[in-house]
Amino acid sequence: MNRINLAEPYIHGNEWQYVKRCLDSGWVSPAGRFVDEFEKEMAARLGSRHAVSCVNGTAALHTALLVSGIGPRDGVIVPTITFIAPVNAIRYTGADPVFMDCDDYLNMDAEKTADYIKKECRFRNGRLYDRRTKNRIRAILPVHVFGNPVDIEPLMDLAEEYDLKVIEDAAESLGSYYKAGRYKGKETGAIGDAGCLSFNGNKIITSGGGGMVVTDDRLLADKIRRLTTQAKDDPVRYIHNTVGYNYRLSNIQAALGLAQLERLDAFIRIKRRNFKLYDGYISNIDGLGLLKEPPYGFSNMWFYSLIVEKRRYGMDNMGLMRALAKEGIGSRPVWHLNHRQRPYLKSRSYRIEKAPLFYKKALNIPCGVELSEKEIKRVIKVIKKNAKR
Ligand SMILES: *Cc1c(COP(=O)(O)O)cnc(C)c1O
Repeated sequence: MNRINLAEPYIHGNEWQYVKRCLDSGWVSPAGRFVDEFEKEMAARLGSRHAVSCVNGTAALHTALLVSGIGPRDGVIVPTITFIAPVNAIRYTGADPVFMDCDDYLNMDAEKTADYIKKECRFRNGRLYDRRTKNRIRAILPVHVFGNPVDIEPLMDLAEEYDLKVIEDAAESLGSYYKAGRYKGKETGAIGDAGCLSFNGNKIITSGGGGMVVTDDRLLADKIRRLTTQAKDDPVRYIHNTVGYNYRLSNIQAALGLAQLERLDAFIRIKRRNFKLYDGYISNIDGLGLLKEPPYGFSNMWFYSLIVEKRRYGMDNMGLMRALAKEGIGSRPVWHLNHRQRPYLKSRSYRIEKAPLFYKKALNIPCGVELSEKEIKRVIKVIKKNAKR
């Protein structure tokens, strides 16, 4: 029997044709028609005024933080449950992460974020300081984990009240949006001061590695463009007044990305249909459930999270992962919690209570766009076989 992987790119659109055009024209470097078009289409899709492509999502986060003025002695509030990229990006700037707990949708807990600011920080002369570390809290970096939109309204209110930047990590949530509230109809990534995207091979669309920053702020977009192109201030004499980065996306990558973007809505439809199929089968297995989307948001359903209650199901998430692996089925627990990662053991964290519970229970199960109903049934069969009852 063939292997069922956790996630795989799906490349059956205009990818070959667009990449061929790059090769035939000789426009293969980080400039060219596809870079411009990919940025333009992405900005239109998200309803943002500007989009600047980057070599990957981590570079997008790094530059977005830098142009927001984040640096040493600053603190940035970030969830402990996330792929480590945004946490590392904070550290690249010399700033420190402040780790926040998650809510019931695996996203940064907005209520605890407010508590942290009110109880653990001091607001003086328009600046927010952590009482213990003395760091100046400059920004909130929410991550739309696995596609679920973050409860962003209260975070935006806090940002307004305490003059903080909001940099959204929408690497996993391209196409997710808000169904209700103040941001009804708004896409994730298009609400904060800047939104960062990733087009890595495992994301909902891929450019074979790539990223982008979207923003409505012209000045910010210009700064990002400059910083990602070695901060070249004079294109003839090559004058550089600051240290820049080579963080640009190549035309070939953009060609791939553009072709994939054309398929985004189709991918989301399939992901949501497969989620429903899984959910139908799983809902009558004792001790198991799938993490749902929040009532206020529409999720692209990038990853499916099975919540495994050890006592009732009969084994824990790691046990089920091993059982699935034996049958050639890929699955994975959520990331090791970031406040427990070695480089960040000394960083600040605030009342992390729910995240360790999800860490013990959650398991991501196959979610590729190419997954067939037959394969879903095969996954379910193994899950049922291992159930206590
Ligand atoms: C994938 C991912 C990134 C980083 O993207 P790369 O393109 O791999 O650098 C950042 N944040 C989150 C939440 C991600 O899942």
